[in-house]
Amino acid sequence: MENEPIFTIHGARGTMAISGRAFNRYGGETTCFSLATRQGILIVDAGTGIIALGDQLINRRRIPPITIMFTHFHLDHVIGLPLFKPLHRQDASVTIMADPHREENWPDCLRKFVAPPFWPLALRRFGAAIRFQPLPRRNHRMQKYGVEIAWYPLRHPQQCLAYRFRIRNRSIVVATDHELDADCAGSAFTDFCRGADVLIADAQYTSAEYAAHRGWGHGTFSACARLAASSGVDKLILTHHDCCRRDSQIDRLVHRARRLFHATRAAHSGMRVD
Ligand SMILES: [Zn+2]
Ligand SMILES: [Zn+2]
Repeated sequence: MENEPIFTIHGARGTMAISGRAFNRYGGETTCFSLATRQGILIVDAGTGIIALGDQLINRRRIPPITIMFTHFHLDHVIGLPLFKPLHRQDASVTIMADPHREENWPDCLRKFVAPPFWPLALRRFGAAIRFQPLPRRNHRMQKYGVEIAWYPLRHPQQCLAYRFRIRNRSIVVATDHELDADCAGSAFTDFCRGADVLIADAQYTSAEYAAHRGWGHGTFSACARLAASSGVDKLILTHHDCCRRDSQIDRLVHRARRLFHATRAAHSGMRVD
């Protein structure tokens, strides 16, 4: 194994996966991130980006302990789950975690989603040891695989969690699916992000698009850039790209965001975050 920890973005597309030449550079895979340490691998969300990650993991001599932490359960964040190959391996152990305060019984929702008639095989027949475990209710933080993890509920339909990971004095915040522009409790979230090395944030819309999509649960690149500046992070990575946004258009959004916060890039499939 390489020197760890390694944080990777496996999918940066929002709402729906897409393919085609116009989307090749940033990739068409939907949301998935991973943080690999010597003790295991933490995965955030199971969009279609998780498929390529699963292929990498089953090619290792030993599959590491795996924990998938969901931000929420909209389709673009769960659709890759049945194609995550470690779930089909008897030597794999996978813990699935999410917010205990969610309204729905989320383990049941996942079991129903990965089952006929939506999928030919039920999740319980996949082979791996799969354990559902709510995040701890108190303090909104825990330790796993040597990583300190904290979370924060975001403004989004059916709610979404942001995660903050800290290991070896480096912090990365993942805040996908967030209507930041309408977030009145902004200062508490600014504190959650404060001083992180990297902020990965939902920048699905331009300001004009946002005006036509208020209440849909996503934000603008300009709100992300302002948050990055006010919370004192080192780097900003824009993610949850609109599924119809072509590579050349994402380039232009990054260019515009850099006028507000210079250290801005756009997430792409396979991006190593350092
Ligand atoms: Zn989404
Ligand atoms: Zn969502």
